[in-house]
Amino acid sequence: MTDQASLYQLRDLSKTYSRGKESITIFKNLTMDIPHGDFIAIMGPSGSGKTTLLNQLGGIDKPNTGEVSCDGERIDRMNQGQLSKWRAANVGFIFQFYNLMPTLSAAQNVELPLLLTNLSGKERKNRVQTALEIVGIADRSRHKPRQLSGGQQQRVAIARAIVADPKVLLADEPTGDLDRATADEILGMLQQLNSELGKTIVMVTHDPSAAKYAKRELFLDKGEFIERGSAS
Ligand code: ADP
Ligand code: MG
Repeated sequence: MTDQASLYQLRDLSKTYSRGKESITIFKNLTMDIPHGDFIAIMGPSGSGKTTLLNQLGGIDKPNTGEVSCDGERIDRMNQGQLSKWRAANVGFIFQFYNLMPTLSAAQNVELPLLLTNLSGKERKNRVQTALEIVGIADRSRHKPRQLSGGQQQRVAIARAIVADPKVLLADEPTGDLDRATADEILGMLQQLNSELGKTIVMVTHDPSAAKYAKRELFLDKGEFIERGSAS
């Protein structure tokens, strides 16, 4: 039986990348639990494997060995079709450069994840409106990304991440492109999504003042989780 106390259970996770003759070990025997409702900031030097770890949690990338369970489901064992469905229902992604579709309006961008569901058009519109209201950008719903500031674009991206009501938000440097004041607004919003809507959040950041918004900080460092593989 899987222990349901934690949302995520990572067990003996190892991840190695090979490039030509070189191989780089990113994690080795990484074991970690992430409880429901956690808000973790992952910090560490560039290239330390933060994005790689996030990709394991999001079912974007698989470990070489070890187990990744989320809510009792072994996501490392899912095939691509199962993973797409699992991601659509369970995970919202937030990126440094927003990754909005430039030709679509804010509302159309937010609606994208719902096109994979069998919700009616009316229900989709309602959900999009609610998500845009939660992030305080409903008044810009018809704007294209280029007509919005960086902070506004990130709000739209967060609305897109929450519109399908996922358990988990995975954010990779979500304030890396924003000035301090705007970053603080976005981080305050993530904190609210965690405390009020119960979203479990894992956020990668290099910014110590951003990390303070989280409940705990995890450092990925050579000594801790990272071992350089020797050239083979
Ligand atoms: P971070 O997000 O902490 O900056 P990453 O997780 O992106 O680090 O990368 C960790 C290491 O793995 C880096 O050395 C990077 O070059 C390498 N890496 C990442 N993705 C790949 C890949 N698809 N193929 C080969 N090496 C990769
Ligand atoms: Mg990264």
